[in-house]
Amino acid sequence: MRRVSILGATGSVGQNTIDLIARAPDEYDVVALTGGLNIAQLATDARAVNADLAVTAYESQLDDLRAALAGSGVEVAAGQVALTEAAARPADWVMSAIVGAAGLAPGIAALKQGATLALANKESLVCAGTLVLDTARRHNARLLPVDSEHSAVFQALVGEDMAAVERIIITASGGAFRDWPLEALKSATLAEASSHPNWNMGQRITIDSASMFNKALELIETKEYFDVDPAKIEVIIHPESMIHAMVGFNDGAIMAHVGPPDMRHAIGYALHWPERRDLPVARLDLAQIGQLNFAAPDDARYPALRLARAVMARGGLAGAVFNGAKERALDAFIAGRIGFLDMAEVVEEVLTRFNAQPDLIDAAMTLDNVTQTDHLARKWADAVMAQRAG
Ligand code: NDP
Repeated sequence: MRRVSILGATGSVGQNTIDLIARAPDEYDVVALTGGLNIAQLATDARAVNADLAVTAYESQLDDLRAALAGSGVEVAAGQVALTEAAARPADWVMSAIVGAAGLAPGIAALKQGATLALANKESLVCAGTLVLDTARRHNARLLPVDSEHSAVFQALVGEDMAAVERIIITASGGAFRDWPLEALKSATLAEASSHPNWNMGQRITIDSASMFNKALELIETKEYFDVDPAKIEVIIHPESMIHAMVGFNDGAIMAHVGPPDMRHAIGYALHWPERRDLPVARLDLAQIGQLNFAAPDDARYPALRLARAVMARGGLAGAVFNGAKERALDAFIAGRIGFLDMAEVVEEVLTRFNAQPDLIDAAMTLDNVTQTDHLARKWADAVMAQRAG
């Protein structure tokens, strides 16, 4: 039996992972499930998959979790330290599907125990790419991409030589506001930003898709995971979300990965890698789809892409600044404190302030420094937003 843990089990990726694992109960021994506030889901799943341990990220939720799992034999724990300890429990395969920079430390803990880390939490690579990859190397642990674009690139590269790669093209649906007039974006509401045309995902990544911050994070993730020159990475709008990514080679060939917009494909690929197994996803009927469309992204509409390119050029801890400021601006948008277009302006202002402090941004990439930088970026984002409001 393979020992598996799912970090962020109660979320969208986590639930899709549980769906796959629950279909083959004889194959998996579930070590740990972690969640946040959704205690009912965490407890239901921990019972259903007979997990050894269930952890909520919040100490305030421990009593509820304990009550929900009374008599089940599932061990319970709470808090950030418990989360990292859960990730450190020996397992063969760990899904990293916590949302945000909070996923970094548990992911590193999983790599340190030598587990294969299936990485949905893109923020880990954005904030601390070198640290994550070095940790994997040092502990002989494997890191497999789960973001659909990166899984697609990974699959297109099987058997290929990176030296022959001319370009990596990641696709973007364009999100909820692709066809909106630019002027209307100023007053886009939370409900409007929280609905994705093709994918069913957590609220934060859905809003990030509308603002293209999600694609901006993915640009950085591509650079870090595949160690490729940012100039070789392109983003193209592809409204149907059928082609997830393409790799262009030096002979002019382009290998495209085509599949339905269902995360169970990328999760299943990482779960069964290096094999391919039957997955319960729809099969595409290309004749019925008829046509696929592509367009260049409009920089004025999506400033996040420009910011991501600046972050890649800057290097150091700029990714942690970018992500921390973005998470805080997103919190403020969700809370109704700032408008949709304000998010990119806040992030840009925080990056500008950090760029004036090379001692901060060029500090060594340790977990402590990344965490501190993340906290500072959030604080500065709050200060920028307070200044703009006043
Ligand atoms: P969700 O918001 O649906 O789920 C997030 C998970 O993280 C939940 O289990 C949540 O717990 C938990 N969580 C939230 N805050 C914390 C915290 N501070 N500490 C520990 N756990 C926490 O997110 P998604 O599943 O959509 O996304 C997860 C990750 O995967 C993100 O990094 C996202 O960018 C990436 N991703 C997602 C895709 C998708 O299709 N959804 C596609 C590709 C990548 P609870 O809900 O119980 O509060």
